[in-house]
Amino acid sequence: MRNADIAKYAAKAEGKNRCVFFTDQMYQRVQERMTMEQALRLAVTNESLEAWFQPVVELSTGRVVALEALARWLREDGYCPPDQFIPIAEESDLIRALGLLIAKKSMAALVVIRQTHPQITVGVNLSVRQLRSRQTLTRLCELVDGQHLPRDSVHFEVTESDVARDFLLLEEHLNLYVQAGFSLHLDDFGTGQSSLHRLQGLPVSTLKIDKSFVDLIDSGDERFVKTILLLSEQLGLAVIAEGVETAHQRDRLQALGCQFIQGYFYARPMPLPDLLKFLTNQAEPALAQGSDPRS
Ligand code: C2E
Ligand code: CA
Ligand code: CA
Repeated sequence: MRNADIAKYAAKAEGKNRCVFFTDQMYQRVQERMTMEQALRLAVTNESLEAWFQPVVELSTGRVVALEALARWLREDGYCPPDQFIPIAEESDLIRALGLLIAKKSMAALVVIRQTHPQITVGVNLSVRQLRSRQTLTRLCELVDGQHLPRDSVHFEVTESDVARDFLLLEEHLNLYVQAGFSLHLDDFGTGQSSLHRLQGLPVSTLKIDKSFVDLIDSGDERFVKTILLLSEQLGLAVIAEGVETAHQRDRLQALGCQFIQGYFYARPMPLPDLLKFLTNQAEPALAQGSDPRS
């Protein structure tokens, strides 16, 4: 029965309405996932999961205006990439505790950062499960207020695909975040197939252009970046281009009127002590490098 169940999930994952035979490899994968989930649960419970920060730079001034908080998990064999553990956290509902832990660590870090850089704000990623639960907003307000931070020093990032999937409920919940004084950024914009009509009604302040469109600049295709910039201008939204890796991409984005960029070209995600050094050396931002484990 257990094996049949595993095969059934594999069939569903491949698009339903098909026949899949159980293999030992499937069982092994399920076991590995369970082991990983248990280890991740422990890392969340004992708060050893880390929050790293990647700067968002204003192109006209070269100044760091915001940070994105990104979860980092150190295991015995090095850092485990978020692309591996975030989906597991999402499936197991662990994402709610994980998200709150990253928010808690980000608020504590922001207090320290704002002692020397009072204008810097921080963004925390929210997954769809967190957005669906009303309790999350209450907890986030407690975390921010508990650190005596102004609510407008914090924003939350929601992915376009999450919002598109469950639009009506999430729109209502997103409005509560804005009413509470937080701003919202629409992440991975351009990949989530949300309709223009819906975009117009969403309470977001900023679009984050997905890295895949920034990558196209180097092959001479600027059509998508241009279109998103034009759209956001018409809708009165700010734009952050993500995953900027080259001077050419930076120059073209600036020429096309993009205000903010985030990417390895300026800085990789880094832990708080490295970030504080980076901010001190900001006069030469391109020279300072973080220490992302995947570099
Ligand atoms: P995301 O929210 O789109 O975050 C941006 C990702 O792009 C980060 O990957 C960042 O390290 C990476 N990145 C930034 N600049 C560059 C660049 O120039 N080149 C390249 N190749 N990559 C760049 P990371 O940290 O691996 O996170 C991956 C995803 O995991 C995030 O994508 C986000 O969806 C999720 N994630 C990470 N931390 C959290 C969290 O605390 N909560 C939730 N819900 N999701 C998180
Ligand atoms: Ca994000
Ligand atoms: Ca993104």
